[in-house]
Amino acid sequence: EQKQTINFGPGPAKLPQSVLLQAQKELVNYNGIGISVLEMSHRSSDFSKILSSTESLLRELLNIPDNYKVMFLQGGGSGQFSAVPLNLIGLKEDNCADYIVTGTWSERAAKEAAKYGKVNIVHPKLDKYTSKCQLDPEPVVLLTFYYGCNETVHGGGYNITRKQNGVVLVSDMSSNFLSRPVDVSKFGLIFAGAQKNVGCAGVTVVIVREDLLGHALNECPIVLDYKVQATNNSLYNTPPCFSIYIMGLVLEWIKNNGGTAAMEKLNKHKSSMIYDIINVSNGFYACPVDVACRSRMNVPFRVGKKEGDEALEKKFLDGALKRGMISLKGHRSVGGIRASLYNAVTLEDAQALATYMKEFLKEHQ
Ligand code: PMP
Repeated sequence: EQKQTINFGPGPAKLPQSVLLQAQKELVNYNGIGISVLEMSHRSSDFSKILSSTESLLRELLNIPDNYKVMFLQGGGSGQFSAVPLNLIGLKEDNCADYIVTGTWSERAAKEAAKYGKVNIVHPKLDKYTSKCQLDPEPVVLLTFYYGCNETVHGGGYNITRKQNGVVLVSDMSSNFLSRPVDVSKFGLIFAGAQKNVGCAGVTVVIVREDLLGHALNECPIVLDYKVQATNNSLYNTPPCFSIYIMGLVLEWIKNNGGTAAMEKLNKHKSSMIYDIINVSNGFYACPVDVACRSRMNVPFRVGKKEGDEALEKKFLDGALKRGMISLKGHRSVGGIRASLYNAVTLEDAQALATYMKEFLKEHQ
């Protein structure tokens, strides 16, 4: 009998079982039309239905206002690190933008933007990206205001949604997209790679306010030009068809499971199960991130002592593997353990990890 595998991977990550089964069922012959979505023209009426129903579902789940465009693009989150400045940095005459760097990914985003204009890091580099991001006093000269909403590597979750005149708030929600409700109207632009919370690799969602279209720099590659992609309904060139189809299935699953509010409740529950054990472990498990900004999606921790006992951490990972729990190793840049608890990770999955953590603690304390 095959042991059940529990996937705590940071992305590509676990998909809901029912989504995989439906994709399997429909793989060879989609909806009785005799071909696979993998073989379908992106300009066919069948794909057009997939694209429009995926967009409608997303609009419904996030309550996206009508003055926002939704695009399904290639190039990943990293592609957007370039696309965002290429499209928006020209909004201000002197091509400058303010970036809040909260971790590895926003650091990369800021570095990429510096190729196209002047980047002000408005928050000083956080202490190892583990402390609360306080914008105090609030910066007053912001134009493009960028931050990583959830930092996948370091485990920081930031909730900056204040509305200021003239500020175009841009947020990378790659690792917490649809994990909770979000007021889209507070943002100029939101982007998210699908491979963590909403599907498989290959498609990146971009939600952008209409008035921000049409400001791309001359050198902006046409496939990254928001105006071109939005005007062509993401069909300027071939979109990542199969990944969009999978996203549609995941969005349907989210809807059938109570939408973003239910996801938030579930994600709070799962993450607090793990943080609670860390908090009462007397330092045996140590999460380096400030309590005020701990992510519900990615829970990093060290085992044995504050900076981690690598031999014990290996033992922890080996033991987890024996119980079918995979991909718990921390990002190579920070080490330790990281449990990613995206939407598709069930309460039972998180419970299994919590139980194991308690037992391991008892045995090695
Ligand atoms: N932003 C965040 C928050 C991420 O976690 C990642 C990938 N882990 C990226 C951007 C980069 O995404 P991609 O690999 O799709 O370029």
